[in-house]
Amino acid sequence: MSQEKIARLDSTESQPSRHYAAWIDRLSVEGAFAVLAKARSLEAQGKSIVHLEIGEPDFETPKHIKDAAVRSIMAGDTHYAPSAGLMELRKAVADHVTATRGVPVSAEEVLIAPGTKFIIFLTLMILIEEGDEVILPNPGYSTYESVVKFIGAKPVYINLLEEKDFRFEMEQLEKKITRKTRMIILNSPQNPTGGVLTADDMARIAFLSSHRNITVMSDEIYGRIVYDTPFASYYTSKEIKPHTILVDGFSKAYAMTGWRLGFGIMPKSLVEAALKFTNNTTACTCTFVQKAGIEALIGPQEPVAEMVKEFKVRREVMVKGLNEIPGFKCRMPKGAFYAFANIKETNMTSQVLADFLLEKAGVAALSGTAFGPGGEGYLRFSYANSIPQIEEGLRRIKEVLR
Ligand code: PMP
Repeated sequence: MSQEKIARLDSTESQPSRHYAAWIDRLSVEGAFAVLAKARSLEAQGKSIVHLEIGEPDFETPKHIKDAAVRSIMAGDTHYAPSAGLMELRKAVADHVTATRGVPVSAEEVLIAPGTKFIIFLTLMILIEEGDEVILPNPGYSTYESVVKFIGAKPVYINLLEEKDFRFEMEQLEKKITRKTRMIILNSPQNPTGGVLTADDMARIAFLSSHRNITVMSDEIYGRIVYDTPFASYYTSKEIKPHTILVDGFSKAYAMTGWRLGFGIMPKSLVEAALKFTNNTTACTCTFVQKAGIEALIGPQEPVAEMVKEFKVRREVMVKGLNEIPGFKCRMPKGAFYAFANIKETNMTSQVLADFLLEKAGVAALSGTAFGPGGEGYLRFSYANSIPQIEEGLRRIKEVLR
């Protein structure tokens, strides 16, 4: 590197973005992580914060899963693994998907990665090109839009409707499809609304997309966390397999967010293309984490059921409490662990209210706009926190808004 370039890099300490490639500005940071950082800095200044912002189960990873990881480390599983994942885990995932979705899946159609997020990123990078259109939910999980923009493709919003419990109109979806549409992204149960799509919705989307040869990415990471009706997966017929990517992972169902373990089900040729990507980036997913993943899938499932049972109780407390706050209205979410409250009658914008609650009440929640323009007029509250904490958060909000 030339002396001049080194000098330029050294002088960027105070203006770090100046010498970075322009494309990095096209990626955005997930809102929950930004608010968490702000909340933590307030805590460092001695302020008490109730955390209703972050989307991760507050439960411990079940002990039998942790034990499997420890055993694996002690047995020497501390070296590289194949880039697509350990064959034993790919088989366990294929069996799990075959059993839960009812469509036969082979281990060769499974890709393991350090987190579902990474599967979303790499499959979009492989399938989408500049100028393509990608239909995504609005409001929706911010990573989809961030990556679509990063690629130079165009996000096309499909609006989720509160009066339809945050489902969308199929006619609207049909109208949004153009010659440039390359992908439709679905997420059910949904972040941030807790809405779920029905089996009939899924069948209609499958019909629409397969006739036009559009890939569907179905993000089913909250599939195990449903309360009122059985989970309706998109991945329920053999016919859709050639143009479907199913993404799922261990973070939510097994309280394993920090382990970084996700999987994707996709055509074999896409797994092979994705391999080049993982091989040049992560090389592989941590070997003993994958061993823990096998235990998660084949071991006892009671901890998942217990966690969902507890979330269901918290959901009632959260929604009832939110509906008691003047200016707030909240529908009962059907899945995930988020309540998406309509705050339009407070006459504040979502961001102003979220900042106000954090600073004045010490309650961290997310502005609906962290999930796209369709989130204006809403705040997302995560009930992945204890009932005393949820009650304290609600009490503080009521007090400052009185
Ligand atoms: N999809 C959705 C809809 C999510 O909400 C999240 C996490 N908040 C992810 C994917 C990412 O999960 P992982 O921890 O497996 O990367």
